[in-house]
Amino acid sequence: MAEGGHYDIVILGGGSGGYACALRAAEFGKRVALIEKDKVGGTCLHRGCIPTKALLHAAEVADSSRESAKFGVRTTFDGIEMPAVLSYQQGVVERLWKGLQSTLASRKVDMIYGDGRLTSPTSVAVNGAVYTGDHVVLATGSEPRSLPGLSLDGVRVITSDDALRLDRVPSSAIILGGGVIGVEFASVWRSFGADVTIVEMAPQLLPLEDEASAKVLQRVFRRRGIGFELGAPFQSVSYTDSGVQVTLGTGKQLDAEVLLVAVGRGPVSADLGYEENGVTITRGFVDVDPLCRTKVPTISAVGDLINIPEIAHPQLAHVGFAEGILVAERLGGLDVRPIDYDGVPRITYSDPEVASVGITSAQAAQRGINVVEVNYPLGGNGKSVILGTQGQAKVIAEAPSAPGGQPGRVLGVHLVGSRVGELIAEAQLIVNWDAEPDDVAALIHPHPTQSEIIGEANLALAGKPLHFHA
Ligand SMILES: Cc1cc2nc3c(=O)[nH]c(=O)nc-3n(C[C@H](O)[C@H](O)[C@H](O)COP(=O)(O)OP(=O)(O)OC[C@H]3O[C@@H](n4cnc5c(N)ncnc54)[C@H](O)[C@@H]3O)c2cc1C
Repeated sequence: MAEGGHYDIVILGGGSGGYACALRAAEFGKRVALIEKDKVGGTCLHRGCIPTKALLHAAEVADSSRESAKFGVRTTFDGIEMPAVLSYQQGVVERLWKGLQSTLASRKVDMIYGDGRLTSPTSVAVNGAVYTGDHVVLATGSEPRSLPGLSLDGVRVITSDDALRLDRVPSSAIILGGGVIGVEFASVWRSFGADVTIVEMAPQLLPLEDEASAKVLQRVFRRRGIGFELGAPFQSVSYTDSGVQVTLGTGKQLDAEVLLVAVGRGPVSADLGYEENGVTITRGFVDVDPLCRTKVPTISAVGDLINIPEIAHPQLAHVGFAEGILVAERLGGLDVRPIDYDGVPRITYSDPEVASVGITSAQAAQRGINVVEVNYPLGGNGKSVILGTQGQAKVIAEAPSAPGGQPGRVLGVHLVGSRVGELIAEAQLIVNWDAEPDDVAALIHPHPTQSEIIGEANLALAGKPLHFHA
């Protein structure tokens, strides 16, 4: 381990944003110090994306074995052995963690383990040593937050961090927050046999997704026996003999073994020397411009930690990667362009999955954009019928500029159904390369695949529907 010293770039925080910046900067021959107080890989690798997706895969296996008779395959579902599920999950995390450490070592990034603190616009102190850099990148990420007056005890009132460590399936759970994290845990726990109710203040699950996607998700969740209370503000929680009782603003009371609080994530920025050294902060988030520059010329910031005025900044691992790369390239002297945040693909990996890129119908209306839309049901798609999944592909395009003309650019793609997350990569090329439905209609999609739903929706928008009921 290095003992203090001078670097081209000192990065505080080794999560998705920080390590992506380190890896790309090293490609420019920069000397990089990456400071991490826990495990490199951060939230995504150890407490977020990867462990939750491992749980969701185990949940899918449970559902497949339970429902296998429908496909003529005889199996017996004997139950969930949570310690074994956790060991599979941990095995996945550890393999990726080892790989990441060796990638960082191969690029000669100096890892410094310890609690870092910004001590000047060009230095970070760790374990009594000082690391100076021509440039410092803040990447300290986020942590679960709660609501005022709602205290977390880690046993009955828990966060996603606690939920990932739970070595049993709760018999019942109330999930506060119907965003991505809440919906994914609801899906896992239901597949594992728990009674689940989601409490969401907004009028739909996944409030940031298109209303049409949320409606399909809600229909399927209802069929799966997942309860939800929408437009229902949380009021209070009390302990009972067997768990917790939650009272909603509507007066309704719900009982369960655990309450999972999934109401969003707050920035990790307190007492780290940020404001003392001239960095401005809004509600704890570090203010940056669209090129991730703070007010201090030698300090940039990336990932879940940042606030960009006028932009709804998504807290996603791939956004952290992109921002880390952007900063490294800017410091490497490349001519970088701001990220188009509307063009970032988003996936909720529940059953069914919800995936989207671009704007929603509500956003098109707010921005005064005239659009045409198609909802292509998965029932018309051979592969989806084989899988037994329901859902839809909604494509939003600019309305034709003259009557009878072709629609303009595709502005949004919103998918719901099993495995549709993998399809959003094609949708993002369509949206980000400003393709029009007629361009996409000319491309042949392989049959029978779920990717045909994107082809079919665009064929319909281009006025030449194939497997589509008028
Ligand atoms: C349950 C859950 C599921 C998720 N699923 C997905 C998903 O499927 N897809 C997706 O794109 N995103 C997902 N996310 C979000 C994703 O994990 C984050 O967007 C991403 O990790 C943000 O990266 P970051 O580098 O900004 O911060 P973090 O990953 O939080 O990393 C920050 C790092 O800084 C370190 N640090 C903090 N303070 C200090 C200090 N003082 N000194 C040294 N080190 C410090 C921390 O230990 C941490 O390692 C999920 C999150 C959660 C919680």
